[in-house]
Amino acid sequence: MFLIPCPHCGPRAMNEFSYGGDATVTRPAAPGEASDGEWIEYLYLRDNPKGGHEELWQHIHGCRRWLRVSRDAVSHDVLGCVEATEAPS
Ligand SMILES: [Zn+2]
Repeated sequence: MFLIPCPHCGPRAMNEFSYGGDATVTRPAAPGEASDGEWIEYLYLRDNPKGGHEELWQHIHGCRRWLRVSRDAVSHDVLGCVEATEAPS
């Protein structure tokens, strides 16, 4: 278990949050013109790097905000946390 420093509620246990996926995935700019390959990449294909990740988490048992969390997937160290709409920390 690790703590996530919610910018609104302060440090909270990760089990107060729900994981929302990779924060670096971007929807095709022109969805109607995207190829099947672009949709497959957007919907299903993810990198799985060892180390740093940018992840979306929702504080479901707190402020209910969507957050962008920088986390080391090996050590589980949380390196930063900002609103999901902000630039990476
Ligand atoms: Zn919160």
